[in-house]
Amino acid sequence: MLYIGSHTSYLKDKGLLGVVNESISYGANIFMFYTGSNQSTLRFPIDKELTRKAHEKMLEYNLDKTKCIVHAPFIINLANNSSEEKYEFYINFLRQELNRCIELDIRNIVLHPGSYTTLDRETGIKNIANGLNIALKDIEGVNLLLEFMSGKGTEVGTSISDLKGIFDLLDEDIKEKVFVCLDTCHMNDAGIDISKFDEFLDVFDKTIGIDKIKCIHVNDSMNPIGSHKDRHANLGYGTIGFENLINVIYNKRLDDIPKILETPYVTKDDNSKEKVYPPYKYEIEMIRNKKFNENLEENIKNYYLQ
Ligand code: FE
Ligand code: FE
Ligand code: ZN
Repeated sequence: MLYIGSHTSYLKDKGLLGVVNESISYGANIFMFYTGSNQSTLRFPIDKELTRKAHEKMLEYNLDKTKCIVHAPFIINLANNSSEEKYEFYINFLRQELNRCIELDIRNIVLHPGSYTTLDRETGIKNIANGLNIALKDIEGVNLLLEFMSGKGTEVGTSISDLKGIFDLLDEDIKEKVFVCLDTCHMNDAGIDISKFDEFLDVFDKTIGIDKIKCIHVNDSMNPIGSHKDRHANLGYGTIGFENLINVIYNKRLDDIPKILETPYVTKDDNSKEKVYPPYKYEIEMIRNKKFNENLEENIKNYYLQ
């Protein structure tokens, strides 16, 4: 079955109910969100009533909570422990986020593995595994998904072998809680040819195990393969192309795996660079129809302007 959704906004006054309403407006049956700012650790308490109403509405509209995703803020960096204090702060903050997932009853969280900065890749891998061993200790019923990264700067998790390196250093009871989130833009930018996605899956299956893939971020890329840039493009408007993305989404081996769009918003008009309109309603439509929409931007503007 196709599980398709997008990045959504979790706002203080609307909570999870806002996320659910936004997703329904896109025709999505799953979603992803940050439980607060994506770039800071500022977090408001979770509103129980809004969460309860959200779950009620999810049942009513057939949104499957087990396929929905929380995204941890970017600033958590488990790869670098050159400041003991910061490293511990990030581990503790991740633990808090895991508990928020339980509170929200959305039990998958995507994490960027981190950047080794002044250290080296091998040390970064060790630090990430160690951080996860601590953060996930005694936390039950939440899956942590390490995101496959584009390799911008000193990012770790930019290859199957990076991820395998992390898994190998996880404690046995922690390993069961850790999974992988692929991202087609990141993979392209890391040097993987998305038109040969099945070859990638073969290697992934032999090295880590295909059952470890728990989510796919479906994005086109603004940059050529191997560019290590990480700039997302709307589906079919980048270097990966619509057909290749459709083949990933409908790949039989990943049938029940949630697919999440994180493509850029559309600008209001040519004079403004402000990106205001979400593309997801129309991108989800393209995906369900398996048909490229060459008037995507125009359709989105017309829809939200009326
Ligand atoms: Fe991400
Ligand atoms: Fe992503
Ligand atoms: Zn990205």
